[in-house]
Amino acid sequence: MAKINILDSGVYNRIAAGEVVDRPASVVKEFAENSIDAGAKKISIAIERGGKDLICVTDDGEGVERSELASAFLPHATSKIRRAEDLEAIGTLGFRGEALASIASVAKVCLRSRFRGAEDAYELTCIGGKMGDIVPCALGEGTEITAENLFFNTPARLKFLKSDKGEESEITNLVSRLVLGNPDIAFRYSVDGKSVLQSFGGGLDEAVAAVYGGAVLGRCYKLDATKHGIRLRGYIGKPDFAKPNRTYQSLFVNGRYVINSTIGSALSNAYASYLMKRQYPFYVLFVDLPREAVDVNVHPNKADVRFENNQVVYGAIYSVVSSVLDGNASALEFVAETGPADDDVREQAVFEKTTAEADLENSVKNAGGFSKTVQKDSILSDINSAFDSKEREITAPRPREDLFPRRIEFHDSGAVASAADPAADVFAENKR
Ligand code: ADP
Ligand code: MG
Repeated sequence: MAKINILDSGVYNRIAAGEVVDRPASVVKEFAENSIDAGAKKISIAIERGGKDLICVTDDGEGVERSELASAFLPHATSKIRRAEDLEAIGTLGFRGEALASIASVAKVCLRSRFRGAEDAYELTCIGGKMGDIVPCALGEGTEITAENLFFNTPARLKFLKSDKGEESEITNLVSRLVLGNPDIAFRYSVDGKSVLQSFGGGLDEAVAAVYGGAVLGRCYKLDATKHGIRLRGYIGKPDFAKPNRTYQSLFVNGRYVINSTIGSALSNAYASYLMKRQYPFYVLFVDLPREAVDVNVHPNKADVRFENNQVVYGAIYSVVSSVLDGNASALEFVAETGPADDDVREQAVFEKTTAEADLENSVKNAGGFSKTVQKDSILSDINSAFDSKEREITAPRPREDLFPRRIEFHDSGAVASAADPAADVFAENKR
């Protein structure tokens, strides 16, 4: 019989890295989520060569104490879970306690931090799992973490990465979602030294405008509705603002970006009669429901969630969205004040149809019986095939300069000019 070997930690971490860290975008995600968990209000993300050469994330969060720097790199080291029961009530984003260990096993990672209120900053470098010494460095309060030469010691993984542009657009997509999902945090994102996207932490309208351009607000309904204990808020595109792919769909369940088939199909069914084949609704949607009604530990990257009761979730979303699209009277209570651009169009959309009340009743009924019909399978397979197809490769939603309310300007220098906005220099003080 073959001998059973206990893997040494270097090998183990590299295997774990394959799971958690499959491409540069996942490193950006882990770093940025750590910043968010650390209470950062400003996060700056810089990448070079699609993140293969460099990923640098700087934040103004609480920082890491000198005595904790080394443990941050240990597998199963986390300051976020103490007991297993904590898993039930976990509110933070990252909680496997192995992201840094995994990333540091396949890159050169430098963690620099000045703990809140501390006089001095320290840095620790870990290359391919080998930790260096802790040395003093100069840094404002907060943390800066860099990953260089990602996958330098796992050539197989390196070979399977996309082109620099391809990896870059994965990261840009991710950063857009970080901006949308954390509208109270100011983000700055630069690619190969050029500033690409900047938000100021001024709320959802501003975040949506930062990512898609201000004109988009007027082409959406702004929702804020609660149904069956499920709160639904954010922007859904008017039918004439349909998109050719799903890149323009962002769903956040209890604050976490997910791709979820229950909610996805509730939305596409609600839009079904308004859109042609291969047209997809635009949305930036936040669905909040009681923590105990959601299991967030179903996916290694936390990219999906499981609901205690799919039907209730489906029904709530379907009925709110379709009544807004159908222009039911009840939609009035769901539609929050809209974006500034075209109130008139909204009024029309909401009032035009008068016979829609009955439709709502029907649609809610249909929603309830939905899981029993064959429709579900065909819709789910639609969704799956859409995700398997090339659509996922489509470039990120770059900010449309022509749609921009001239608030943010993009410059080759990497400096972002926004003279009118005092928040524009929020990053200026970050470093010492
Ligand atoms: P997890 O996030 O699951 O706890 P990680 O490996 O991502 O595990 O991080 C390990 C630990 O390092 C975190 O629990 C946290 O204490 C510390 N840490 C990492 N990044 C930061 C940061 N930007 N600010 C403050 N602490 C951080
Ligand atoms: Mg983490």
